[in-house]
Amino acid sequence: MSTLLQVKDLKVAYGGIHAVKGIDLEVKQGELVALIGANGAGKTTTLKTLMGMVKPAGGEILFDGQSTAKLAPHEYVKNGLVMVPEGRGIFSRLTVEENLQMGAYSRNDKAEILHDMERVYHLFPRLKERHKQLAGTLSGGEQQMVAIGRAMLSRPKLLLLDEPSMGLAPIIVQKIFEIIKMIAAEGVTMLLVEQNAKLALQTADRGYVMESGKVTFSDSADALLANEKVQQAYLGE
Ligand code: ATP
Repeated sequence: MSTLLQVKDLKVAYGGIHAVKGIDLEVKQGELVALIGANGAGKTTTLKTLMGMVKPAGGEILFDGQSTAKLAPHEYVKNGLVMVPEGRGIFSRLTVEENLQMGAYSRNDKAEILHDMERVYHLFPRLKERHKQLAGTLSGGEQQMVAIGRAMLSRPKLLLLDEPSMGLAPIIVQKIFEIIKMIAAEGVTMLLVEQNAKLALQTADRGYVMESGKVTFSDSADALLANEKVQQAYLGE
């Protein structure tokens, strides 16, 4: 498997606050990698830095073998680096279908877009039923589906998911994670940030644990699930 994302000694600071203190991380083609850790560990900051929304204070990010340091904001999605943000960021006054179409704004392959739209409706039949509904009137779980579906419409090479379980009832969380597995099975590479460490590791191939801006463990998801220290600190066992 080739390496799609390689992060070397990444450091991020907000003024005097060192949110990320030199982390190494990689995601290989086709992998589903989980990034877990407590509140404030630096997970969201890491994702935002990968998307160019926050400038690093040091280190290197290579995506598909190229440094992302000089990418303009609009070039990220075009290059296949796509994020589903925490809180989803959907357009509440647009319909479900219009939201999904927004994901394809940088594409002009109409037939392929239609094909991808059908693929998203296949993954999320609920969205098909509600394609004319205003997104702001959907339930939280449905809004999360729109956010993931919209990201899929931009044909990501790497999909960054920030806290997809946030604010959702357990049964809906299960559903969202089933869909994440289906998307992974289609070959989409993903980096998943989650507070729900157990579910994230049960879903992922590999995982990283972050603590106060540093990576404290990195291993296969099964090994992390079996690791006593990880169990005690993050899995409530
Ligand atoms: P959470 O799950 O709560 O989002 P996290 O692991 O994603 O946690 P971050 O949001 O990355 O953590 O935050 C890491 C640290 O950086 C925290 O101490 C936080 O207070 C700080 N931080 C985050 N964003 C900013 C900001 N815009 N300005 C200043 N400090 C920030």
